[in-house]
Amino acid sequence: MIKFLDLQKINLLHQEEIEQALLETFRSGWYLLGDKVKTFEQELASYCQVPHAIGVANGLDALRLIFKAYIELGIMKPGDEVIVPANTYIASILALSDNGLVPVLVEPNLETYNIDLEKIEEKISPKTKAILLVHLYGSIVFDKKLTALAKKYQLKIVEDNAQAIGATWQGKKSGNLGDAAGFSFYPGKNLGALGDAGAVTCKDETLATCIRALANYGSQKKYVNQYQGLNSRLDEMQAAVLSVKLKYLDTENKKRQEIATRYLSEINNTKIILPQHKIEENSHVYHVFVVRTEDREKLQEYLNENGVQTLIHYPIPPHHQEAYKELQNYSLPITEKIHREVLSLPMSQVLTQEEVSTVINLLNKF
Ligand SMILES: *Cc1c(COP(=O)(O)O)cnc(C)c1O
Repeated sequence: MIKFLDLQKINLLHQEEIEQALLETFRSGWYLLGDKVKTFEQELASYCQVPHAIGVANGLDALRLIFKAYIELGIMKPGDEVIVPANTYIASILALSDNGLVPVLVEPNLETYNIDLEKIEEKISPKTKAILLVHLYGSIVFDKKLTALAKKYQLKIVEDNAQAIGATWQGKKSGNLGDAAGFSFYPGKNLGALGDAGAVTCKDETLATCIRALANYGSQKKYVNQYQGLNSRLDEMQAAVLSVKLKYLDTENKKRQEIATRYLSEINNTKIILPQHKIEENSHVYHVFVVRTEDREKLQEYLNENGVQTLIHYPIPPHHQEAYKELQNYSLPITEKIHREVLSLPMSQVLTQEEVSTVINLLNKF
């Protein structure tokens, strides 16, 4: 079986170093708010070339905390609107609604699967306070036009960078394109921990200080509570593992890009539509490689019968989820088409050339 993602193999690539890091942390007797997290935060900030990085418990919290901080700082208030792509993972939407903010869904571009930049301005109202950009599937969505829009309407640009760590746009890393960004280190992400983990990067020091406090009970000084915060801290064990794996991220992303290049050039079945990503080199780190076909269920079954595991990112769009009845009146034909037709092929740094060839041959025979 060619697995969609072999997490065991991915982590065993760095077995010695990871085991050493875990053992050292275990023996140190210090498990939260310590040097491992501090070190990883500095490494992440330096990797993204941003002034501030704050380790948090997971990617959803990273996003929730950014908006919670904007509310605490009086920059946003419950009832305000945030523009967000309609085909994103549910976490982007949860981060808004959890803070009483209203998600305003915008259709994606059918070629890139990212938010259609041409459709943003028409959705901006006097209540709009931010654009939540989601670099979906690992592909950066950005343009100078966005900076101009943000300036014109006084909007914050927040990146959901859960899927695109390491990607660059005009020399800048994802996570450094807007005002703040949320990262996920869920085990299956391009930089994966051995459990839940996440981080925020941002440029403004006041925002960083507020987020750091909010993630730690709303407290900067022990037992003094400035805000009604959460407990959402990155722990020392995960930070130690992430420091090891961050060193290899660029090499591993490159491996994903090489596999994507093969998929793009060698899959030649007219029934299978390949992603059209034309921004620039390294602006896509292929967290997932998505193809589209009208026979999605048949294709998935066929691949499975022939020993290739695939997944669907994602089967149900947010506005059709039971949890979001308030969004059900949206008509989003492009989003719905994507959710009906997409299929994610095996993609990771441990996939072999032979395995890639097998997948390609099977697709071409479908
Ligand atoms: C994974 C993911 C998240 C949430 O991250 P968790 O660490 O699982 O909470 C948010 N947004 C997107 C786009 C994701 O893919």
